[in-house]
Amino acid sequence: MRIHSFESLATLDGDGVRYAVYLNGCPLRCVYCHNPDTWGLSGDDYTAQELYNKIKRYKPYFKDNGGVTFSGGEPLLSASYINEVNEYLKKDGIKYALDTSGQVELTNDVKDAISNADLVILDLKFYDDESYYKYTGKSMAKTIATLNFLSQINKRTWVRTVVVPGINDSEEILDKYIKILKMYPFISKYELLGFHTMGFFKYENLGVENPLINTPALSQDTLLELQKYVDNKLNY
Ligand code: SF4
Repeated sequence: MRIHSFESLATLDGDGVRYAVYLNGCPLRCVYCHNPDTWGLSGDDYTAQELYNKIKRYKPYFKDNGGVTFSGGEPLLSASYINEVNEYLKKDGIKYALDTSGQVELTNDVKDAISNADLVILDLKFYDDESYYKYTGKSMAKTIATLNFLSQINKRTWVRTVVVPGINDSEEILDKYIKILKMYPFISKYELLGFHTMGFFKYENLGVENPLINTPALSQDTLLELQKYVDNKLNY
């Protein structure tokens, strides 16, 4: 499997200390994407065992709650590879999280990759089909189907939303996300992420049009205010 990149000792995508593995390919084209370089195929090839050998060097840092995070791109496009890697990880007691948009068919491989994860971090990018089509290019249906599957197996799940100035940075719009989240009481955390401009150079390097070139980053103050607003409404 060709792997886009790695990040060792990451702390953002899951519990404790993480080793993040960024897999190639994504079915979406989110307007705010800061990883457009994962849309194609780049990086080096690793067999499942070679990836495990890389990961296990970090095991001492994982302690009780850390582990691997498969991210991307869309990691579940590589579900069978994740399952292969997990054959090694589980023998060594290393847990993994999935950072996914849920925009995949629920094949047996995908269901296995989700079921074996210690944690799923699901992006709820927008709040209805129209907004999904407008800002990601695809329907919301697959994300909802994945959410339903996570609910059915009662998987430990966090949900995240990127908040973009001028698109979804208001309490009124966040209420639409909250309405959906309230239908899924198994979710244990809802986290807002502020839109930032740090990935803009990647669009330039790739020669790809950046649809939000004129959009500023979300301020930290606004992010904190909006997070407080959703926390009060959801009581997680
Ligand atoms: S799902 Fe993630 S990688 Fe794919 S386009 Fe959206 S932000 Fe980018």
